[in-house]
Amino acid sequence: MGRYINSNKLNTSNVVKVILYIVGGLTGAVNLFMLMFFFFSFLPDPENRNDMGINFAVGAFFAVNLAVSILMIVIGLGIGKKVKRTQFYASIFESDTDGIVDKQELTDQTGMQIFDVLKELDVLITRSYLRNCALRRGSDPAVLLTVDNAVSGKFVTAAVKCPACGGVVQIRKGTTATCEYCGAVVKG
Ligand SMILES: [Zn+2]
Repeated sequence: MGRYINSNKLNTSNVVKVILYIVGGLTGAVNLFMLMFFFFSFLPDPENRNDMGINFAVGAFFAVNLAVSILMIVIGLGIGKKVKRTQFYASIFESDTDGIVDKQELTDQTGMQIFDVLKELDVLITRSYLRNCALRRGSDPAVLLTVDNAVSGKFVTAAVKCPACGGVVQIRKGTTATCEYCGAVVKG
């Protein structure tokens, strides 16, 4: 599904994300536990102190390991965010009717500055999360959608009545779009 979403990339990303969460979480828990254990060896009260002879080198070892575990989870979160943003941008592209998502549309739909939108899209496109689209830079920045252009030379759209509000929405055949009047999902 999705002509602008690279499904293989998203599926792989989701698997990698879950692995990072699991490995990072499990090793993080162990390393945190060992680090606590290390600190307990320095308690002034001998009653509560363990005398396992754990030294600073061992403590540093677990501290570094814990940092790596946290890094894995942070990277997993980053991948998860990219997946979500990919789906978000793809839904914007799907509801576009003329093949060009211009600056106004991009800033309206994202609520972000155009500079930040282009920066984010650049990452998603160059890393192959999004496909069938390209960035136009310069004084009139936009996203150029390429799928239908390649087939017919133009975007084929049809007027569809929104089931929720009755407004007429232009949608490409076989795609789902968001009603521009009420926000309901409309099928083309
Ligand atoms: Zn509507």
